[in-house]
Amino acid sequence: MPRSVYRRSIPGDGAGSARSRRIASLATLCALSLAVCTSAVNERTEDPTAAGPVPPARAAVGLAPCMISGGLDAQMSEGVPTPAGYSAATGTVRALTLMVDFPDAHGEGDAMDRYAEFFPQTQDWFRTSSYGRLDYRADAPVKRWLRMPKDFEEYGIERGAPFDPSYRGLVEDIVDEADADVDFRRYDLLNILVTPNAGPSALDTVLSVTFAANTEAPVADGVPVSHTSFVYSRQDDGSGSYGRTGYRVLPHENAHVFGLPDLYTQDGGGAAGHWDIMSEDWGANNDLLGWHKWKLGWLDAGQVSCAARADSTSDHVLTPLARAGGPKLVVLPLDADSSYAVEVRTQEGNDELVCRPGVLVYRVEAGVETGQGPVTVHDHRRDSGGCTHAPNVHAELSDATLTPGDTFTDRDNGIRLRVLAKGPGDTYRLRVTRD
Ligand SMILES: [Zn+2]
Repeated sequence: MPRSVYRRSIPGDGAGSARSRRIASLATLCALSLAVCTSAVNERTEDPTAAGPVPPARAAVGLAPCMISGGLDAQMSEGVPTPAGYSAATGTVRALTLMVDFPDAHGEGDAMDRYAEFFPQTQDWFRTSSYGRLDYRADAPVKRWLRMPKDFEEYGIERGAPFDPSYRGLVEDIVDEADADVDFRRYDLLNILVTPNAGPSALDTVLSVTFAANTEAPVADGVPVSHTSFVYSRQDDGSGSYGRTGYRVLPHENAHVFGLPDLYTQDGGGAAGHWDIMSEDWGANNDLLGWHKWKLGWLDAGQVSCAARADSTSDHVLTPLARAGGPKLVVLPLDADSSYAVEVRTQEGNDELVCRPGVLVYRVEAGVETGQGPVTVHDHRRDSGGCTHAPNVHAELSDATLTPGDTFTDRDNGIRLRVLAKGPGDTYRLRVTRD
C-alpha cells in the first residue's frame, strides 16, 4: 500500500495492511514465549559476565495492587513484572551486531558504515532513557559484510514471516558464517543489520522484526540464539533527518528483547501517539512511557506510587520523566489486569518533541496483546488537531496532556484526577480521588 512520504501512519515493525499475516506472526511469537514460560530460564544470564537476572519491578508491599498481570495468555504484554525468558534490561547488556548481505544483494560500501547508522546512537538512547541503568555494549567483531550462502529471495523473508522456516534458515546460515569469528556465549542479544538493498524499501513495507525469548532458536557455541533483532532497509522519511533519527528502529526492536509490546495498532499511532518509541519509531526522537521504565527496572519502587484504595483522596508530586531521580509515576489500578498510569512529560532527554508539556494520563491493559492496543493515551484535547506538524508524529495526541486546573474523570470507575499546580523545576502536584 503506497503511503505518503511525510505522513506515514504505520511505524515500526509489523501491523501493515495484511492483518491476517500480522496475527499469524504474533501467534508464532506467543507460542515461542509460552515455551519459555514453562521453563522460566534465561540461559544467557547464567554467564557470569552477562547482565545479571535483575527482576524489574520487585513486589514492594505498597505496590502489589498496582502490579497488574495479563496472565499466561499475554506474554509480550504490559504485565508487571515481565515474565521470565526475556533479556534483563539493567546492568551490562552485550549486543552482538552483524552486518549481513546476499549474493543477489551485495552490501554497498563499508559494512561499518551500516553499523554507524545505529551506533553509538542506540547505546546513548538506552543510557539516557534508563538513567544510566542499562549499560548497552555494542560489539561488531566481524567488520565486513557477512555473505549469506543463498539469495535473499530464497529465504522467503516477508513482512510477518514466522520464525519457522524462513528465519530459522537465515539464523542458521548467519551462525555458520560468523562462528569462526564470534563466541556467541559472550552476548545477551543479537542485532542483524541487513544490507539496505535487500528486500523492499521501508517506505513500502517494514520488514524489521524481533524474535525474543525464543528457546527453540538455533544453537551457537552451546547457547540458543534466543533474542534477535533484524533491521532492514532505512526508515528514511525523506525529510533530511535520517542521519539523526534513522537509528530509532533499533531501540524499538531491542525493547522487544526486554519484553515490551508494540503500542501501535492496525491504525498506526492513534492509541499511544508519539509518547513511546514502541508506538512510533520514525521521525523525532521520543522516550518510553513511565510504565515501561517501571517494567524494565529503570524506576525504583520509591519512584512509583500506587493509588489503589477506594474511598480515598491522595495528593502526589511528580517530576519530569526525562530527569533522573524523584517521583515519576502514579498508578491507579482498576482490576487485576488494567490500570491508569500518570506521569509528567517535558521536552528534554530523549523527548525531542513535546509541544505541550504536562501530565499524561493513559490506560494500560495487561491482557491485551502486542499490536492490539495495550496502552491508550487519554486525549485531554480531543479533535484539536494537536500542537505539531512534525513528520511521522501522530499529531492529534501531541497535546494530550493536562496542565494546572485540568481534571481527568472516569465516572464508571469512580476516579477523579486534578492537576493542582506546577512548581519549580517543572514539578506537578495532583490530587487523586477514588470513590
Ligand atoms: Zn515492534
